Amino acid sequence: MLNWLDIIKFAKNGNPRPGRRVEKTEEEWKALLTPEQFRIARQKGTERAFTGAHCSVFEPALYGCVCCGNWLFDSREKFESGTGWPSFTQPVTENAIKYEMDFSYGMRRVEVMCNVCDAHLGHIFPDGPMPSGLRYCINSASLKKVSTTGLRTATFAGGCFWCTEAIFSGLRGVENVISGYCGGTPETATYEQVSSGTTGHAEAVQAVFNQDVISYEDLLRLHMLTHDPTTLNRQGADRGPQYRSAVFYHDEQQKAAAEKVIAELDAHFDDPIVTELAPFEAFYRAEDYHQEFYRRNPANRYCLAVITPKLQKLREKHSDKLKEL
Ligand SMILES: [Zn+2]
Repeated sequence: MLNWLDIIKFAKNGNPRPGRRVEKTEEEWKALLTPEQFRIARQKGTERAFTGAHCSVFEPALYGCVCCGNWLFDSREKFESGTGWPSFTQPVTENAIKYEMDFSYGMRRVEVMCNVCDAHLGHIFPDGPMPSGLRYCINSASLKKVSTTGLRTATFAGGCFWCTEAIFSGLRGVENVISGYCGGTPETATYEQVSSGTTGHAEAVQAVFNQDVISYEDLLRLHMLTHDPTTLNRQGADRGPQYRSAVFYHDEQQKAAAEKVIAELDAHFDDPIVTELAPFEAFYRAEDYHQEFYRRNPANRYCLAVITPKLQKLREKHSDKLKEL
């Protein structure tokens, strides 16, 4: 749990960086945001007290950055401060938020920003409730609320996770995607060891999706249609069990859905589907440089040769399922 000393240290020396970075031009942000969101999040504005949409709302939810979707706060850390702005006592992770000393208006304050896209969120003060004693005073306009009631987790493998991650992160209703390893033990969950093909792991992605927006069955269909589920332990030129096609189901409903979709799509392929169907046990996050690899390295040879054409095909055939660019 972060306390005021941590915050001062972070404001002076910086804090851990998240695995991804989003940068856009002013014009691009303007096109994405309402004028009020742009004024506050991109131009360090402040909304009038007691006017924001999230000010007195306390139902279970996650709050993300309105600009880039980075998860910032959980409603369990939200409290009524009486100030007229949404107030939180902790962020979801210590690297979600960036802290900077702010001497504007003759005051000495600590500004809080999204650590992925530098959106202005608000300020932090050492007068919050115990045990942290922190009060993150945040503009509603900088936040996007995601109800947690519809959120579910899906874990899929379909060859190189750079590719699988690029596909899933573009789907509407998918709130968060992490690249990692599934099917082996924690000791061997490193890229180097997994690449040997002897650890039992598959390169996989873990997606948190909102089932009110996209169903698990549709995620499965798109997964099957964007990799080759008929080649055993191989995807194109990538060979080895770490590149196997797999669905790691989280409950019996997911298992039944996977069986149904596999049966439904079997006729679509020339060869039988060999996708492994296994109960989910654990997921190990891959090294930072693998996260959002395609977005950060679009000119990489593998990205150009394999991922870009796949995404183009997906956009042609299933544009209704994709987020707007
Ligand atoms: Zn952001």
